[in-house]
Order: sequence, then C-alpha cells, then structure tokens
Amino acid sequence: MMEKSVPFTEEQLERIVAQFPTPFHLYDEGAIRRNARRFREAFSWVPGGFANFFAVKALPNPHILGILKEEGMGADCSSLPELLLAEAAGIRGEEIMFTSNDTPAVEFKKAVALGAIVNLDDLTHIPFLEEHAGLPELLCLRYNPGPLKKGNAIIGNPQESKYGFTREQILEGYRMLKERGVRRFGLHTMVASNELNPDYFVETASLLFDLAAEIAERLGIRLEFVNLGGGIGIPYRPEQSAVDLERISAGIERLYREKIAARGLDPLRVVMECGRVVTGPYGYLVARVLHRKETYKRFIGLDASMANLMRPGMYGAYHHITVMGKEGRTEGELCDVTGSLCENNDRFAIDRMLPQISPGDLVVIHDTGAHGHAMGFNYNGKLRSAELLLREDGSVRLIRRAETPLDYFATLDYPRLREDALATAARSQE
Ligand SMILES: *Cc1c(COP(=O)(O)O)cnc(C)c1O
Repeated sequence: MMEKSVPFTEEQLERIVAQFPTPFHLYDEGAIRRNARRFREAFSWVPGGFANFFAVKALPNPHILGILKEEGMGADCSSLPELLLAEAAGIRGEEIMFTSNDTPAVEFKKAVALGAIVNLDDLTHIPFLEEHAGLPELLCLRYNPGPLKKGNAIIGNPQESKYGFTREQILEGYRMLKERGVRRFGLHTMVASNELNPDYFVETASLLFDLAAEIAERLGIRLEFVNLGGGIGIPYRPEQSAVDLERISAGIERLYREKIAARGLDPLRVVMECGRVVTGPYGYLVARVLHRKETYKRFIGLDASMANLMRPGMYGAYHHITVMGKEGRTEGELCDVTGSLCENNDRFAIDRMLPQISPGDLVVIHDTGAHGHAMGFNYNGKLRSAELLLREDGSVRLIRRAETPLDYFATLDYPRLREDALATAARSQE
C-alpha cells in the first residue's frame, strides 16, 4: 500500500483529540507558509511583483487569510461574505480581486467601496456596475476562449461554461470601458480546475499574452496585468506528484519575453488566483471509527460524514486515508469508508485497501485544506466541524469551533427548540 505522510504522530494526535473532539479539520501552518513562499519565489521574475490572490472559497477562514497575507498573498473573492472576510483579515484595496458572476448590485458596491479589483464576467455588467457603483479607474475583464481552448474534466469545455466574455465581446468591452473613462485594465481567464499538467498553464498564459497584444494593437490599450486564474491541481493520490511551479514559471517567462517584452508591451504584471494548491495538501480531516459492519460489503463507519467533506460523494474524488498507528502495514482488507448521512453516496472511499480497522481507531483523511470544510453543509441535521491550526511550535489553536444544535436552529424563530438544545447541552456537560 502506498502511503502519504502526516505531520503529527499518533500520540500527538491523541493529545489533540483529548482536547478537541473529532471530527475536525487540522491545518499545518508551517507547511502552508513554506509552500506560499515557494510559490512566490517561483515567480520572482514577474515585473511589478507576482501575486497570488488566494481563492477565499477554498478555505474561508480569516486566520488562514491573515497567514497568507503575511506571506504576500491577496484574496480572490466572489461574494459579499468573502469580501468581508478579506477585509477583516486586513487585506486591502487592490490586494483583493473580486471575480464573481451573476453578481448582485450590493456586492459590486462593496467591492468598489473596498477599492478591490473588480473582474467583470459579462458585457452587460459594464452598464450594471456603472449604474449601481460607478466605474472605478481599474477594471478587469474575464475572457472565455470558447473553442480556442480545451477545458479539463472538472471545469468542462469553455464553450459550455457560463463564465466570461467571448472574444468579440471582450474587445468591445475594453472599447466601452475606455470610452467611459476607465484608465487601467486587467485581463483574466480561468479554464482549468485541479489540473496537474504544468503545460496547461503555460498555454493559458500564451493565449492571454496574444490577446493582450491584440488589445494593444486594435484598441491602443496597454494592459496592466493578466490573471491566469486558479486551477493548479494537487496530488490527491499517493502515486501522483505535485505540479512543478518552477516549470510553469519558466514556461511563462519564456513566452513573456517572446510575446510581451519583444513587442514592447512590458511591464505586464502576471498574477494568479489559486486556492487548492495553496492550502489543499496541508489540511487533514481527523475522525474516529464508530462502527465496523459486514454485510455484502465491509463498511467502516466514521464520526465524520460527507457534510464535512463533500468531494468524494460529489465528484467521486479520491482522498487518501491513513489509519493512525497502522501506517506501513502490508496486509490489508478491502472496505468502504462511510459517514452517517442518510445518503448512500456518503462514502470517503469505495473498495479501498486499508489496514484492518477497529472501532476507536483514529483515521486521517488527507488533502482537505481546500474545498473541504468550506463545502460543508447541514443536510440531515449534520453539524459543521471545528477547524484547528497546527502551529510551527507544535501547539494547536482552535480557529473555528464546531457547530452545536443551537447554531443549526439559530435562524428559526421557535423558542422551544432553543430551550431543548440548551437543556441537552447542559445535560451533556454534567
Ligand atoms: C474556484 C476558483 C478559483 C480557485 O480555484 P482552485 O482550483 O482552488 O485553484 C479561482 N478563481 C475563480 C474565478 C474560481 O471560481
């Protein structure tokens, strides 16, 4: 069995669990910081300074945003609460990218009030933004290359995608903006999700550099930056390897010289808005085994469910599982690892070979640092788990408490539920 390592020992984890009951997501701060520095370093050639605007949706916790800000990242937001999170974490003005779609007026207003870089998704959003918030001096437009670019499995074919301007529309968009007094411009596209092939991002840069040149030639507009979007994948499976950021960077730098510098279009800043690759590999969902059940198949039932990590149930995504204290065992058994939701695809693994598991074992599900807790939900009365930060000195900090039934009932105007929830909570403290 191929293994992936965890940044704690079984004893350490038992101590953490004694203080914070399972299930919870645990994030490795040191690893997040080291990775953020490597990312920035890989693109240090970029004129005006490379920046990754962390996609807040991947891990919307202000403590994490604060750490990433310290490591030089901005925030990519697409809703009002995400803007509020970025603001609260001290991310300011043009450190915030607002890449939304089907956007309500109130969200545009907030983004403009914060001085964020607004990234428009459609031609009709230009008059809409002008009417509701006024046009800021800097605007970015989201390009959908349609048939010019093949999408990948998760995000699908660009032609079918709901995002962005067509090629004709985007040229018309910049013309309209220029006419209406906008003076600074960016260009964005995002055509991949969880993509492990580095060349894919180099091709995306090539597409944007060519379009930047065309915009300069046809409209006399010099772009200030291109935003390659997010979508860098991570090795969920133990036999996969991480995307080589240096290779992406070197490929883009070569194209920059050919297509931008050689045409006198530099400086053109290059930025990204990755989420998954920034925090994904450094989060772990920790759960306890409740039951072992043998029917037509063997089921290992955890105290976590699909409500804590939706990706396996939703996309059939692979997440590696380590059984603490049983790492490295060569003999194993085939099992399905499930949660308690009344939903048959509530499974973290199907037909997975794992060491023999007993009730009470601690199980660690890997790569939950992005689109993990964030995708959680309350269906079936399931409560969202806590989030913990494993600090560089080995201590652990609670950065989001677990929900209680009171949180679940909080939006109901029904006092009896509140009293019952409080009474139950009091009894469980006795
Ligand atoms: C989801 C999303 C991202 C982040 O994607 P990752 O796969 O987490 O890197 C970035 N930009 C936009 C517009 C998105 O929708």
